[in-house]
Amino acid sequence: MEGQATAARREGDKLVLGRVACKHCWGQGTVATREPCPACRGTGRGRRGGRGGCKECQGGKYRWNQDKRTVCPGCQGVDSAIAEEATVYDGLPRAVWESLAFRVTSRQRALHWVEGCLGGGIHTVLDYGQHRSLSDEELIAEVRDGGCPQICKVAREEPDGTVRLCDYVLITRMVDGYRVDGAWDANEERA
Ligand SMILES: [Zn+2]
Ligand SMILES: [Zn+2]
Repeated sequence: MEGQATAARREGDKLVLGRVACKHCWGQGTVATREPCPACRGTGRGRRGGRGGCKECQGGKYRWNQDKRTVCPGCQGVDSAIAEEATVYDGLPRAVWESLAFRVTSRQRALHWVEGCLGGGIHTVLDYGQHRSLSDEELIAEVRDGGCPQICKVAREEPDGTVRLCDYVLITRMVDGYRVDGAWDANEERA
């Protein structure tokens, strides 16, 4: 599950996480009001009385009235946009993602089926080899212009509590797709 993008900022190889909006109200300070479903009068029953058969609320008995808003119970409407401490499970801001170095390497093997099904690293793309029609620069652009990962995919928490960004993002071409990983082994890989 991807968190919302934080206001994290880069300081050298470190990431300062900052704060994120209240997760109850997404920074709005108010939430919609829960009302009994008008179609079934809060019973959840369908027209013929069937339990859970109401088509309006799918048997949920309530609806959320977006026009009638009340103060958010999470943040009480105070500093809603910065109510919570960001974590490494929140999203990396696009500006930081795009500031990372990207490199391409290749391996003559197929993505292991687990990688194909469950994903590994930042993400895995099973494209049956379509990436081979892209140059390295085009592949980097495709990955960079795609979605931003969670912070924990490209940064790790150090023992001193700081968050260190990966040295670069490594795109590994494989026979039937490619995978994208945050890489820290700068000394080994840099030639
Ligand atoms: Zn209903
Ligand atoms: Zn809130």
